[in-house]
Amino acid sequence: MMTYTEYVGALERGAFIMGAPRSKGIVVWARPGLQAVKLLVERFRQLTAQHFTPRVVERGFLMETGQYRAVFGDYANVYGLSTPLGGTNYLLRPDNLVNTVGELQDAGTAGPAIAVGGLLRDSPGKTPPLFRDRYIWPAVQLNQRVPTETAEDTLDFYQRVVEELLSSLALPVVTVRTDPIADYGRLTYLVVSVLPNGRPTVLATLYVLSSRLKKALGDPLDIIDIGFTGKLIALCAMFHTDDRGLALPSMLAPLQLGITVGNATDQGKLAAWLADLKGAGIRYQVSPPCSNLRDRHRWEKRWHRQGAPLAIGLDRRPGSVIFAGRLPLRRRELSGLPCPDEVRTLLSDHDQRLASSAAELFERSLDDGGHLRTACPSCAADLPVFGEVVPVHRGRCEFCRSAEGTSLFISDQGRFY
Ligand SMILES: [Zn+2]
Repeated sequence: MMTYTEYVGALERGAFIMGAPRSKGIVVWARPGLQAVKLLVERFRQLTAQHFTPRVVERGFLMETGQYRAVFGDYANVYGLSTPLGGTNYLLRPDNLVNTVGELQDAGTAGPAIAVGGLLRDSPGKTPPLFRDRYIWPAVQLNQRVPTETAEDTLDFYQRVVEELLSSLALPVVTVRTDPIADYGRLTYLVVSVLPNGRPTVLATLYVLSSRLKKALGDPLDIIDIGFTGKLIALCAMFHTDDRGLALPSMLAPLQLGITVGNATDQGKLAAWLADLKGAGIRYQVSPPCSNLRDRHRWEKRWHRQGAPLAIGLDRRPGSVIFAGRLPLRRRELSGLPCPDEVRTLLSDHDQRLASSAAELFERSLDDGGHLRTACPSCAADLPVFGEVVPVHRGRCEFCRSAEGTSLFISDQGRFY
């Protein structure tokens, strides 16, 4: 696994984000990174669509200051225009909540709406890319209006959606229910992972908004608010690498399969196979005909740097089909051209390997940090409890052996994000 800053280099070499020169707090994304974000948002939309009919929206760049302040008061970390436009003061896209909920109310619908875009926040101090940016992109925020009676069940549904999303990124997480943060949520779930340096970090937030916000938004219904950012991709770059760089989960990989071909490769047979792969939605690229192994390895390395899970070499020997997998690099001869289902099996084997190596690191970090403990309410009162694991796990209290224990996430660093 990479150190805290090496993930930036892996993302740069994978052409996910641009390297130097860099503006403080502003990550510039390159095409493969943009494609990955699109895949991520689409996966979230599909998971949400199991129960609801989400609409993906994008908000304008300017927001009337009055509208924002009416709900959020005078949070100081936003940018405004110093000269009013047409007499109105504007902020530079500070948040999606107010506009999204307003739009749902005007249309008389419950949603959900998924706002995808960037948020501008003043971030003094260190700005590690995708962890703490001035221009936070992508910022994905789902809002939905629900009757109070179903709010908790709806939040539980979204907990499963977000955990499934993270599982398709092969990122191990635990969800905890915390005390209200700054009076934002009446019910707050934070989805937490642990960084290579042992520090816990929040990957997604799930709220039923507080009654104060609900009132400020003028809504008789409860409001669900789900959010995550590009930090998910930073975590992938920390957890999922081998000697050749990024090794992405197949869901996120813009390129799933790189294919090298030789001068003697049968073009007709190749075209028919590629048509099958395309029809099955497998994302592949084919090299130009390579006359030697050096050329083939150059292509393979380039694809691997971009995070491609699989490479297949055709006709390294006349008629041979050689598969190269990751973590670590491994080659195996296949009996023939793999059909789309066989390619999917190879992709899912790759995902499994990512998931189990990440899970091992995660468990170790949890253990080393002593983050998960089982305690009863009275023993928990003496611990720096960050939140209670949900769904609730009951067990014997580690401290007084009472049967009233539940699994708790402990953090002596206090509140973290
Ligand atoms: Zn106890």
